[in-house]
Amino acid sequence: MLRTQRLSLDVLPRHVYVHVPFCARRCSYCDFAIAVRSNVPTGEYLEALGRELELRVPERSSEPVESIYLGGGTPSRLGPDGVARAIAAVADRFPLAPNGEVTIEANPDDVTADAVASWRAAGVNRVSLGVQSFDDRALAWMHRTHDAATAMRAAHTIRDAGIENWSLDLIFSLPSELGRNWDADVSAATELAPPHVSLYGLTVEPHTPIARWRDRGRDVEGTDETYEREYLHADRAFVAAGYEHYEVSNFALPGRRSRHNAGYWSGASYVGFGPGAHGFDGVERRWNEREYVVWQRRLCADEDPVAGSERLSTENQLSEAVYLGLRTTTGLTIRGEDERSVRAWIDAGWGWLEAGRLRLTAEGWLRLDALATSLTMLRSR
Ligand code: SF4
Repeated sequence: MLRTQRLSLDVLPRHVYVHVPFCARRCSYCDFAIAVRSNVPTGEYLEALGRELELRVPERSSEPVESIYLGGGTPSRLGPDGVARAIAAVADRFPLAPNGEVTIEANPDDVTADAVASWRAAGVNRVSLGVQSFDDRALAWMHRTHDAATAMRAAHTIRDAGIENWSLDLIFSLPSELGRNWDADVSAATELAPPHVSLYGLTVEPHTPIARWRDRGRDVEGTDETYEREYLHADRAFVAAGYEHYEVSNFALPGRRSRHNAGYWSGASYVGFGPGAHGFDGVERRWNEREYVVWQRRLCADEDPVAGSERLSTENQLSEAVYLGLRTTTGLTIRGEDERSVRAWIDAGWGWLEAGRLRLTAEGWLRLDALATSLTMLRSR
């Protein structure tokens, strides 16, 4: 048995993530740690979650956390009482800072006025709504359980219930044979005016339904040209509608950036509970068993559900600092050895310098991996 990884008293987390793995079915592109269940074993899950909290956090943390994030999977499938009990269990160990952010990811079919009211009563003040598209054909192809009308209704229900801070997810770069009109989806989103929007470019991950479809010869993703055109169109449309494009995949109206995700992008310490959840204390990463049944059985047997951990090497720290710096509008402080490359990127329209920091444009973010790798290699010499 691996040693129980209790939280270091030197580095208390600033953010808490709770993974709720349950989904009604697997979406065609999804490779997340999920458990497909028609009946969600809420009681069993909460018992295991409570056990993990007890094992790893024997005492209430002395420092408040800035955010609690229920992600998945589909946390909204825990039901109103399950969501309240999950948040209470976490808050019992981690006091939330005044005005702390509490987010729940929700699928549109779970959003009702009663559900949102109960989430608010439980302390939720931010909802991340998995819309992905307003095109019914595209939604069916993605194996989503909702249609466009349900997504629209859910967005209005969240707003009418008094949740001022909410986010909408969209997926772009679908295969052209679907005939999905990306510009129409972006227009529908800007008309709804969610305070925050997250974009995901479709990628084919191993062991997903679309990977199998691809192996049988079908087109399952957009071309590189589709990816670039749709990404740049979203950048122009959301910026024109008053959003800040503040991270490679995220847009926010003023004051509505995701504080939880900003913690990840700034290298802040965070802790994760639930199957597949990750944590980071500034030096070491750890992650839990990914399969729900393995995670749950280990906790039932009073065993640590950790599956692995790694200390970041100096090289990893260097590449991570470069990547994190470039992915947000915070940018990266430029050193002497970077200047020649950076000048060429600025001339190409991929970034600009401000107060000694390189900030990437949307064209630059399309090349984020390549630019970050190139700078990391320069700095490693
Ligand atoms: S709802 Fe989300 S987590 Fe669940 S299968 Fe679909 S994409 Fe994956």
